[in-house]
Amino acid sequence: MPQYCNTMITEYWIFDKSQKELEEYCVKNGFKKYAAEQIMRWIYSSRLFDFSKMTDIPKLLRKNLTDNFNAALPEIIDTQYETDTCGSSKKYLIRFRDGGTVESVSINYKNRKTLCLSSQIGCRMGCAYCETSGLGFTRNMTSGEIISQILAVENDTGGRITNIVFMGMGEPLDNIKEVEKSLDIISNDKFIGIAPRKITVSTCGLLNVLSGLNLNEYKYKIAVSLNASDNVTRSMLMPVNKKFPIESLAGLINGKKPSIHNKITIEYVLIKGINDGIENAKKLIKMFSPANVKFNLIPLNKEQNSIHLKNFERPEDAEVDNFKLKLAKAGFTVTVRFSKALSINGGCGQLKAKTINSR
Ligand code: SAH
Repeated sequence: MPQYCNTMITEYWIFDKSQKELEEYCVKNGFKKYAAEQIMRWIYSSRLFDFSKMTDIPKLLRKNLTDNFNAALPEIIDTQYETDTCGSSKKYLIRFRDGGTVESVSINYKNRKTLCLSSQIGCRMGCAYCETSGLGFTRNMTSGEIISQILAVENDTGGRITNIVFMGMGEPLDNIKEVEKSLDIISNDKFIGIAPRKITVSTCGLLNVLSGLNLNEYKYKIAVSLNASDNVTRSMLMPVNKKFPIESLAGLINGKKPSIHNKITIEYVLIKGINDGIENAKKLIKMFSPANVKFNLIPLNKEQNSIHLKNFERPEDAEVDNFKLKLAKAGFTVTVRFSKALSINGGCGQLKAKTINSR
């Protein structure tokens, strides 16, 4: 069992080190470069968090690591569980070494165990329909904090996560360096080993970062939260649109080489009377091609007494069906995400990192 940590931060936190950084550390301290991979295999593949028990590395290095590194997982300070006939969801409130907290949600349906990861403490994108944005922004998460959500949850459940979605708190492209550093370890089959095609990075459309990702070659799945079919509505819902308007975002998406296996997903939160009309669906049909994108419709999730979302309502199911049908008839693949974990406020856009007592 790993120990949990709430002591002073005096040492390196092992989860924050990339393979290259750990190799440099080993060499600098007179050990072989390949020891870094051995250490990381123990940590991420064998889940051994005690350096003194890493039997295939030199004793001196084991002592060096014990003296200088901390391998304590962040603490799970609260959980909420929901189950139905198809599966279960569990929401975790996780606390890091500086006291910062985030929520992560594990969703177990059929053979999939998906973990919805947070990438920032709070968020600075200010989307009007999202509870996280009501928190404001505290700080970026480090790569180790991102990865350790997986380790802490797996340590709790005993099973392995099969799929990752960056749809928790924060905007992953606003913290791209740490997100990509974490993905190097998460997707490396010597370490955590979740295949890139099972990892989705969801963005509000930070075009300056998105355009630098080389979408044609990008190995992870990309989902873009569009949520409107015109600039006026999108700017009202998502302030990021004032900087990167819808036509430039659509231009970038449409410029990606069509690919059956790695289409971009357009996420579209349906909000009653705001963006859920058939005229909106028609505009989307004009804007995109079924060869390039698929749609994921998300009827708005809203806590009953939400102050932040007081002006927004979820559409009726019939409205959602009509919208779906319109897009499907135009040839698009369309799924409707009836978010799991709603009874525990663990649905998309509901993560606030509050303890049960302060909810
Ligand atoms: N910042 C990223 C990832 C976090 S949001 C992004 O914007 O994509 C993850 C998903 O939840 C997005 O598709 C977002 O549109 C959706 N979402 C946010 N608030 C929601 C709400 N109240 N109801 C339903 N979906 C919501």
